[in-house]
Order: sequence, then C-alpha cells, then structure tokens
Amino acid sequence: MDFHILTIFPDMVKEGLDTSILARAASAGLIWINAVDIRDYTLDKHGKVDDYPYGGGAGMVMQAQPVYDAFSAVKKQCRTPAPRVIYVTPQGSVFNQAKAEELSKEEEIIFLCGHYEGIDERVLEEIVTDNISIGDYVLTGGELPAMVMIDAISRLIPGVLNNDVSAEIESFCDNLLEYPQYSRPEEWRGRKVPEILLSGHHANVDKWRREQSLIRTLERRPDLLESANLTDKERRFLEEYKNTR
Ligand code: SAM
Repeated sequence: MDFHILTIFPDMVKEGLDTSILARAASAGLIWINAVDIRDYTLDKHGKVDDYPYGGGAGMVMQAQPVYDAFSAVKKQCRTPAPRVIYVTPQGSVFNQAKAEELSKEEEIIFLCGHYEGIDERVLEEIVTDNISIGDYVLTGGELPAMVMIDAISRLIPGVLNNDVSAEIESFCDNLLEYPQYSRPEEWRGRKVPEILLSGHHANVDKWRREQSLIRTLERRPDLLESANLTDKERRFLEEYKNTR
C-alpha cells in the first residue's frame, strides 16, 4: 500500500515510520512511505508556505498554492485514478479501529498534514475526500496524526505482522478489549501467572480469555459493550459479574 504524506516536515514522518515492523514492511515492499515536502512547491522565493489569515486573528494559515501543487505532483505518481485524500484535522470524525480496517483495503492514500492555524479552506474543498481526527485535542501539526493512522492501517495489511492472527484477536475486534497477557517467569515479585494459562487446555484458556475480555471491557470501556456482539450467555455472565463486584 502506498502512503503519500504532504507535509512541511518530511523527515519527521520518514524517520518516525522507519523503525521496527513498518521499516520491515517497507523493505519487503508491502508499504511505501512517500513523504513529500510541501515547501518544495511554493512559488515564494523565500520558501514561505503560510500567510496571515484574512479577517485578522492570531497565527498563520498554510496557503492553497503550495499545497495544491504538491498534491498535483503526488497525484501524477499515484497508481489509482482517485485516491482518498485525508486531511488530518481535529475537526474530522474520530479515527478508530473500524476506520483503520476500512482504509487498509485501499491501494493508496494521500495524507495532508496542516500546521499553524490550519490550511486555506479553498484547497481543502478542492482536494480533500475525508477529514479525520485522532481525538478531541489540538496538536501543533498533522504529522503525528498521519503517522498514528499509517501505523494502525499498515499492521492490518496482510504480511505486515508476522502472525496475521495477532491482528485479528485484539482490542476493538468485536468491540471488546483484549484479555491480559503474561510472559515468563511464572512468578514475578510474588505475582503469579493465572494457573489456567499454564494448564495447556486450549478450550479452557480460550474461555478464560473471552471472559477476561468481557470483564476488562466492562471495567474500562463499558461504552463499547453497547455495540459488542455478545451471546445471551455472555450477557448473563456480565450481569452476574456486576452483581458480585
Ligand atoms: N486551528 C485549527 C482548529 O482549531 O481546528 C487547529 C490547527 S492545529 C494547531 C494544526 C494542524 O495540526 C491541523 O491543521 C491538523 O492538520 C493537525 N492536528 C491538530 N490536532 C489534530 C487532531 N486531533 N487530529 C488530527 N490532526 C490534528
């Protein structure tokens, strides 16, 4: 999958994503991180890409021309005729695992990272297909949000994780949080690994893990349970658990 990132800090994006699993995925040709410097496309002789906002007010606004020209150059490199163009913005719908799964089916995506007070609305109207936020808070720039989304999307691409199953049964699958995980030693600072995990009885381990998922979701993210696909037995289990808390 090709990720094209329009940014004024291409090194931040390249260096941030060139580690561990994503670096291996890039070497294997499973993903391509194409960080494009918007500044390379400005017509301003001093390399400026921002100017004062019309109407006054604090801060600067990224101008339409360099953003549009950077986009047009990237578009020529694209393999598909109409790739999705995501403006990462606190004003977008909030990114989640379902959105990551949806986007992982695309062949390529263009991310647009803003700075300062944001980007001239006219170029956003012209090129953006999706407005996506990573949460209800304001960051200084769009690079971290783009990197967060690229990481979450990439690990869903077949072959990126060593074991595809590990992406299938973790938090937010089924709208449940994942069960607790343990590794060696069996006892650490007096805390023992739950005995069931040492039993070698796979069916019992699966049952325990499912119950732990239900409990953990109830304790930490009860809102998720509203849309979780639970059996009657699981709903009864949760009711009983609530009564014994
Ligand atoms: N003035 C803008 C507003 O109030 O909506 C905020 C601009 S913010 C300081 C600069 C850039 O950071 C934005 O254009 C956007 O690309 C990025 N950004 C900030 N917070 C974000 C978030 N929660 N999710 C995604 N992008 C974000």
